[in-house]
Amino acid sequence: MAESAQPHATRFDVIVIGAGPAGSTTAATLAKEGRSVLVLERRAFPRFHIGESMLPPTMLILKEMGALERVMARGYPVKLGAEFTGGRQGRFGRIPFAGQGPGRQHATFQTERADYDKVLCDFAGDCGATVLHEAVVGDLVIEDGRVVGVQYEHEGGTHTAYASYVVDAAGRSSKAAQTFGLRRSGDRRRMVAVFRHFGDLDESRNPGTEGDIQIGEHLDGWVWAIPIGKDRISVGACMPREVLQRAEDREALYTDHVSRVGRIQERLAGTRPLIDVTVETDYMYYADEVAGPGWFMVGDSGCFFDPIFSAGVFLAMVTGRRAARTIGTLLDDPALETGLQQEYSRFYKTGYDMYARLIYAYYEAGYSLRGLLKNAGFDISGDELGDNKWVARLVSGDFWNPRNVLVQYLRGQERFDTFAEFEPLWGCPFYEDLNIAEEAEELVS
Ligand SMILES: Cc1cc2nc3c(=O)[nH]c(=O)nc-3n(C[C@H](O)[C@H](O)[C@H](O)COP(=O)(O)OP(=O)(O)OC[C@H]3O[C@@H](n4cnc5c(N)ncnc54)[C@H](O)[C@@H]3O)c2cc1C
Repeated sequence: MAESAQPHATRFDVIVIGAGPAGSTTAATLAKEGRSVLVLERRAFPRFHIGESMLPPTMLILKEMGALERVMARGYPVKLGAEFTGGRQGRFGRIPFAGQGPGRQHATFQTERADYDKVLCDFAGDCGATVLHEAVVGDLVIEDGRVVGVQYEHEGGTHTAYASYVVDAAGRSSKAAQTFGLRRSGDRRRMVAVFRHFGDLDESRNPGTEGDIQIGEHLDGWVWAIPIGKDRISVGACMPREVLQRAEDREALYTDHVSRVGRIQERLAGTRPLIDVTVETDYMYYADEVAGPGWFMVGDSGCFFDPIFSAGVFLAMVTGRRAARTIGTLLDDPALETGLQQEYSRFYKTGYDMYARLIYAYYEAGYSLRGLLKNAGFDISGDELGDNKWVARLVSGDFWNPRNVLVQYLRGQERFDTFAEFEPLWGCPFYEDLNIAEEAEELVS
């Protein structure tokens, strides 16, 4: 889809700031309903973005939006599970998504985000959204305490556009967080990520299952290995900030950490670096308010905690989808705003809160999934870490399900509280009927 020219209209139902996965999901969902949507994205696409490994329900969101075929046509590597591996000779264990049990999504994909984000953004345009690239939003326009529009720079001019709702999908550069002073830093752990892409990948050298993400655990952090194309792989080393600060040579530190994980080394044999070693810092933050008069935050604009367990894009898309549905209702019945925004905020925080708890528990156990599960009282003697359906479900994004015993455990750990006290909104956005039926069956058997 070609980029639209400067829109003639300055009034829309919805303005979306940012065309990452959260913004494009919101825009496509609303545009498909026939709403007028303006998407303002500061970068020209394709552009690099980190965040390459998906969770299974992402496929369900894409399918519902009508974008799945287009995404799968790109030939991204299929991901059927996650391998957790420790040390040079270390023990490993795999969580197959099939371990969730029947009736659930068992496969997903991994991708180069430059490509994926462009596919989704073009899809939003094809659904009817007006998409402007290199359109940089400056200020929110606020009248009588209500967000009514945005000011933005595009093609050398300053413009103002108005809408019933402004959706902040600007990720870490959130406008709502800046304007209303909402961002709080998650100071529990200051992790940093050092990563690069490699080419000439030969998956026949992977000692595990083709397409899986590998998480390599070692004393000073953990390492991801994510195939992002037929012959490309992304490898990142995550570590406490002090470890990076102490290092004289970042590249040597990166190579050292990656070399500590024997099974990742095996997979990388014969590859060559494609990009310089790159560093991401300060990615742990949250907000206690994610919606207000005339505005919603979706995805990373409100919260992000850590890449371990790969839930960032999933949470971005699931909150984008929920915000779009809420806004669709509000455009028809504005009187419902307060109640529906509260419900949205509870949904948003329930998901991110559970993800944060999983992360804190992982770090508390010393970069060890086995340690986390042992602390939670699980029997982890076998190699198939995903033998237990609750574990396989939680790492597949089962964040809103109070029947999940791992959710119950994590929710009960007060030391993992992040947000100011809030009432969770339980109810799985994908499998609620299945969960209810399963519970009923267990009660009668
Ligand atoms: C090191 C690291 C590794 C990660 N690995 C994974 C992973 O394996 N799997 C996973 O699911 N997630 C991962 N994530 C998280 C993932 O990258 C994010 O959660 C995801 O990109 C969030 O999507 P989003 O749409 O909310 O924000 P983004 O993808 O950041 O999109 C925001 C968009 O807004 C635009 N924008 C910003 N400001 C403005 C403005 N003023 N005007 C107009 N446009 C603007 C930006 O250009 C951008 O395109 C990782 C994160 C980090 C830090």
